[in-house]
Amino acid sequence: MKKSLGIHHITAIVGDPQENINFYAGVLGLRLVKQTVNFDDPGTYHLYFGNESGGPGTIMTFFPWEHAYQGRIGAGQVGSIPFAVPEGAFSFWKERLTAKEIPFTIEVRFGEESILFDDPHGLHLEKIERAHGENSALEMDGITTKTAIKGFAGAVLLSAVPHRTAHLLENVMGLENLGQDGDYLRFKAASDIGNIIDIKLTPVGRSMMGTGTVHHIAWRALDDADMDSWKGHIDSTGFQSTAVLDRNYFKSIYFREEGGILFEIATDPPGFTADEPIDALGEKLMLPEWLEEKRTEIENVLKPITIHPNDRGQ
Ligand code: ZN
Repeated sequence: MKKSLGIHHITAIVGDPQENINFYAGVLGLRLVKQTVNFDDPGTYHLYFGNESGGPGTIMTFFPWEHAYQGRIGAGQVGSIPFAVPEGAFSFWKERLTAKEIPFTIEVRFGEESILFDDPHGLHLEKIERAHGENSALEMDGITTKTAIKGFAGAVLLSAVPHRTAHLLENVMGLENLGQDGDYLRFKAASDIGNIIDIKLTPVGRSMMGTGTVHHIAWRALDDADMDSWKGHIDSTGFQSTAVLDRNYFKSIYFREEGGILFEIATDPPGFTADEPIDALGEKLMLPEWLEEKRTEIENVLKPITIHPNDRGQ
């Protein structure tokens, strides 16, 4: 029986890339660990944020599609993205969100308080205090290692058929079933970050892909051999996964689960230091070899962006 280590990354569609950077780096204090393009659509950015190294379980990535329609969050998507912060960090974040004029509400699931708020493009985000998971080393603008985001607390899934998605998480992905609290089922993956997955049971409306929605959620594979083993396992359980694709910073397969959510499995290696040193992560536009010859063309269509001091890990 294979057991998933939890979330590798989550990828969402947003609008203006500078607004995206100003929020995730400037307000939330994540590090921009990679500036590259969408390999399937090289005229648009693919921006990666995370902890100091962009470790698995901390990586939030974006396709900033400025001219996309506003999407609708609904069935067949990740509905909300909870970030883990250290215990005792809640009052700091409530004050910070208030100071930045970002409205928030509080919800309790499984006895845990969660701060619910939206990003500038309509994505639903949360903060949950978690004791487990390493503290981030990033410090900036009043955020310290005692308050900084550690990575994902997990994800809240909105499935068109919640019990089929639950069956997949437990019996194919190998997550532990932690039971039900009101409207949610909870599952736990084997690592200590990006590991707590909630499935909402009440039917939600149809989703529409677009700005402010999650594109896919990726789960960890330890290495290439583990990826092959996951691919064999997924395919043998009746899902049809893609061929293994080289995403430069990891290798990936994709499959759509029965509840409509696009799942990816991504390898931990080689990671974001594959093409630039850790001190310089995210400072320059990086392109895979096969796009290097089109660099001038690509740079001419991308909107210039300014990065923040903490994007340099300072
Ligand atoms: Zn992905």
